[in-house]
Amino acid sequence: MSDLKIPNVRFAPSPTGQLHLGSARTALFNYLFAKHHNGKFYLRIEDTDKERSKQEHVEQICSSLEWLGLEWDGEPLFQSTRLEKYQSVVQTLLANNSAYRCFCSKIILEAARAGGSYQYPGTCRNLSEDDVQQHMNSGEGFVVRLHIPEGETAFDDLIYGPVQVNHEEIDDFIIARSDGHPTYNLTAVVDDHDMDITHVIRGEDHISNTPKQILIYNVLGYTLPRFAHLPMILGPDKKSLSKRHGASGVQQFKDDGYLPDALLNYLALLGWNSGSEQEIFILDEIIALFDMGQIHKKGAVYDEQKLSWISGQHMMRLGTAKILEGIHEIDESWGKGFEIHYLYAVLEQLKQRSKSLLDFIEQSAYYFNGPESYDEKSAHKNWKDESTNEFIIYYKNCLEAVEQWDAEEVEASLRKTAEENDISAGKLIHPTRLALSGFPSGPSLFAMMALLGKDVCIRRLNKALEIFPLK
Ligand code: GLU
Repeated sequence: MSDLKIPNVRFAPSPTGQLHLGSARTALFNYLFAKHHNGKFYLRIEDTDKERSKQEHVEQICSSLEWLGLEWDGEPLFQSTRLEKYQSVVQTLLANNSAYRCFCSKIILEAARAGGSYQYPGTCRNLSEDDVQQHMNSGEGFVVRLHIPEGETAFDDLIYGPVQVNHEEIDDFIIARSDGHPTYNLTAVVDDHDMDITHVIRGEDHISNTPKQILIYNVLGYTLPRFAHLPMILGPDKKSLSKRHGASGVQQFKDDGYLPDALLNYLALLGWNSGSEQEIFILDEIIALFDMGQIHKKGAVYDEQKLSWISGQHMMRLGTAKILEGIHEIDESWGKGFEIHYLYAVLEQLKQRSKSLLDFIEQSAYYFNGPESYDEKSAHKNWKDESTNEFIIYYKNCLEAVEQWDAEEVEASLRKTAEENDISAGKLIHPTRLALSGFPSGPSLFAMMALLGKDVCIRRLNKALEIFPLK
């Protein structure tokens, strides 16, 4: 792309819902492309649909973009403020006969459809001026349609390559509705032109709109931008990603305490790769490496496990102080009453196992309070009968004698208990973990015991000895 002038791109969400993963990925790829080439990334709110557009969605989209760090240049452009401009363009197109008024009623159109054609039959395409005037005089409503000439439209998609569409496949589509409101294909072109957009980067679901928009560019004499259509994001069942797949909006990831860097990293890999084995990136690295030529055409499959893994990697890289800060943003009272060095140590122990800040919160409860419930499956498996109580009592006695309470000593006591009772270490490790945390798994048991301290460990073992084995 050596002939590239400094690009202007835009992200153009309709505020009819929150920012979901697919749109966030579109925003990200626009942003990456702009920043890689020192260009501008603009935000346009496509809010001409009064009924479905909501201020709360505008706010949520903006705050999700900000949280992700995808800051746009300048002020967002709201389409609802530009109705006059669109209407004047419609008038221009009517005046130069590129568009025409269509008075067909729904009934006529439905009859045509019933006849098997999904295309507008062209009834009003060649009405004489007198006919038009007559319809208008009698107060009939009308829509405005673009007159599609014979021929074909071709463009070279930056991702999909050459695309060619015969005009027989394109309806004389509506550019202004009967209430005078312009439609998406018209507003998108007018704005992309007025915003001096050089590259239109959007989801593949819009690829069929592109030839229609090119026709509008042409009749208005506007310079064409380049187009790039991003592959769809699919669920594991290879169907379009939706709520069904549990992949919710960006807000949910934020609420669950994912790190924005981790989500961005994951989204970038949905359709793009750096060409190397590296998979963990921060945003600046992705900007530096980003190349539209490396976007695949094939739909990208959303993989929750991969997202978790990437999140975990980012979590591990994050300093403990930052993790604590993030946790306190979600839950001010987390670790209240405990000393800061204790909290740091808790976070260090959980780092490897936490993919989100919420994970830290959920997994750390037993560092502050004894378990209120115990994993039943583990209890039945690992604390089957009274013999376990005998071994745990033995271990507890060894622990009580420990003077220098640290991970090595509690481990040494456990190994000694195992050896002297001729049992495997596992016969002690699992019930001990269950007694101390209530969980069947977690961070290193001995490090955890060292941190919990002798009194706490003994107390929890005593409590478990009263509860287990379960009857
Ligand atoms: N408002 C459209 C959408 O959210 C924008 C499509 C475009 O980028 O042109 O899908």
